Amino acid sequence: MKTHPATNATHPLDNFFYPKSLLIIGVSVKRINLGKIILINNVNIGFKGTIFAVGSEAGEVQGVTVYTSVAEVPETPDVAIIITPAPTIPDIMVQCGEKGITHIVIESGGFTEYSQDNKSLEREVLDIARRYGMRIIGPNCIGTINVEHNLIMPFALVQGGIPAGSLSIVSQSGGVGDTYMRIANENHIFFNKFIAVGNKLDLDEVDFMEYLIQDTTTTSIFMYLEGINRGRAFFDTAMKSDKPIIVQKSNRSPMSSRIAQSHTAALSADDEVVGSMLHQAAVVRVKSEDELIIAAKALQLPMMKGRRLAVLSRSGGHAVITVDACAKYGFELVEFPESFLEKIRTLYNTRIIAHQNPLDLGEIFDYTIFTKILEATLELDNIDGIVFNHVYQSSYEAQMSRTFLDGVHQMVKRSGKPVAVTLISDGDEILDIQKNHPFPTFNNPLQAITALWGLLYYRQRKDLRNNRGMPPEFPINLNLVESIKKHCKEEKRIPLTSEALEVCRAAGITPVRHAVLGSDETPEDLKMIFPVAVKLLSRNASHKSDVGGVKLNIDSSGGIIDAIAEIKNSVKAMAMPAAVDGFMIQEMAPRGEEFFVGARQDPVFGPIVIAGFGGIFIEVLKDRAIRLAPITEAEAEDMLRQLRMFPLLAGVRGKPALDIEALVGMLCRVSHLITTVPTISEMDLNPIIVHPRGMGLSVVDARVFFF
Ligand code: ADP
Ligand code: MG
Repeated sequence: MKTHPATNATHPLDNFFYPKSLLIIGVSVKRINLGKIILINNVNIGFKGTIFAVGSEAGEVQGVTVYTSVAEVPETPDVAIIITPAPTIPDIMVQCGEKGITHIVIESGGFTEYSQDNKSLEREVLDIARRYGMRIIGPNCIGTINVEHNLIMPFALVQGGIPAGSLSIVSQSGGVGDTYMRIANENHIFFNKFIAVGNKLDLDEVDFMEYLIQDTTTTSIFMYLEGINRGRAFFDTAMKSDKPIIVQKSNRSPMSSRIAQSHTAALSADDEVVGSMLHQAAVVRVKSEDELIIAAKALQLPMMKGRRLAVLSRSGGHAVITVDACAKYGFELVEFPESFLEKIRTLYNTRIIAHQNPLDLGEIFDYTIFTKILEATLELDNIDGIVFNHVYQSSYEAQMSRTFLDGVHQMVKRSGKPVAVTLISDGDEILDIQKNHPFPTFNNPLQAITALWGLLYYRQRKDLRNNRGMPPEFPINLNLVESIKKHCKEEKRIPLTSEALEVCRAAGITPVRHAVLGSDETPEDLKMIFPVAVKLLSRNASHKSDVGGVKLNIDSSGGIIDAIAEIKNSVKAMAMPAAVDGFMIQEMAPRGEEFFVGARQDPVFGPIVIAGFGGIFIEVLKDRAIRLAPITEAEAEDMLRQLRMFPLLAGVRGKPALDIEALVGMLCRVSHLITTVPTISEMDLNPIIVHPRGMGLSVVDARVFFF
């Protein structure tokens, strides 16, 4: 195995990045073909190792001997790239296996991405790999690039050397990865390692995320993904990353999804789960290459420690635009202290523009004053970051501007605070600075603010993630859950509301007091406190109100009898009458806000928990939060704070604050239940009525589904 040059440590995937020897299989001696381009590229950029080649014809290309079989290669290469027609690959894999080659990159297409009929071909390739203990990248990919090692596996012709940076990329698509690298270079963002994972027959994005997290020369990671197969492993790995991870997950290929059995499943589209998972793991999600560039530039700046901003602007109009952007992201424009304003007055005198935040620099044309003001602003304790709107004409100020940016770069390094400079000048000037100047600049105030917000978001998410604590555990009466499940399975039906509430009780969630009546029983001696609710229990009507199966505020025994009769009539009137399995007489809960807590086993990510306000809000406003379970108390509270309607819980306009603590506990319990009992496929508590602080919750309805 290879030794990592920087750390001396080894990793099982090192040979894909630091091979001492590289074998390219599929090199034509006479024609130009893809294998030959790979060979030429590596010779040209000076691959730091030995290159071998195999092709159908013996000969020589660029001083490299081409053999006609793997067996003839004089030593065992650390890694082999195969780029020959798909049907030839199993045989070549066997040759590689016999040779003792452990790391294989299959760049050829023509596998399952071409036709599902080729599944057996992929299977065969994987079987051979397992037999010989080989690891595979691909098929249908462009392999890896390691700028540090002058290793370049893609088959597009490369001219000249590639500058080394510290951003590493994992891409499911070679094409997207390739264009993004180019766009990044145009923005003076350079990368360190690149991996195209292709069809992910063996190794996938999780393996390479893990690799890059431990890779000493990578400081941040970008991943372009179309699907995530091992969702839970992805999450667990991302949760441990100390390096920023940026993900673009496109939605074109929908992930495997099950037929929605209940409300919960229908409400949480897979992409929403992906987004929530990334949010929970402190991964920054971008939706386009533009957003990626902004994020990657932001990461070249120091972290934002809080939301207090200063805006310095060479144009008043741009200051106003910046203030709007600040408002959009919730930044605070703090007041400048008097001592600072005094200092500013010694630097320049203004007749028409007031000294305030945003500070309008429109009257100044002296770059040394800009620098001094910026320096003084960076020194302010109550400022976490600065936006500087740099508006100028290149014909006068091109050189001064570059010197100024160098100075800003140094100041930022010294102060440890970010300055987002917006470059508002003529087109050629902007392109030139963006491409060639090492200090990141942004095209407009919104981009600059987005960048600073990204830094703050990352820091806050990571702090929360790192300090989340341990998910609390609760005793669960597993026998009770199992017996309910068994009973329902025997009768081939879903649990009734009363049984679903029993499952809750088994997990320590106490529902509002109720009694159950058989379908023809009359209420006697109920020992209930009026008023009560009367509800239909039916194996095929889990949404009771929809079939006229809920009567509220009944205040006498006679009322109960009437309510039951009415419900029976409504059911009879149905086109396909629902079964009447009985009735639930339930005490009315005190007033409060109706809340929704759900959970389910996601096919990609495993157990998840969902929170939102009940009723129409969850359906119409889609105001809900999702996390992978089990969650901690800090995560549960974070879920609640994420809701747009959170102020309702915190108390608004004379309304009392509600029992957030009880809700946090409830979320933890449900998340623990769904994690501990994997036979529960989905469940929801809807509504949970939330009472004022200290008064707790009332669980009045639940649904549970078993696999
Ligand atoms: P379903 O959701 O199957 O239609 P629910 O049991 O959730 O039936 O009842 C419908 C609505 O009636 C609830 O959303 C809630 O507003 C109200 N409700 C039900 N039971 C009670 C109760 N015990 N106390 C107060 N309100 C209740
Ligand atoms: Mg309900």
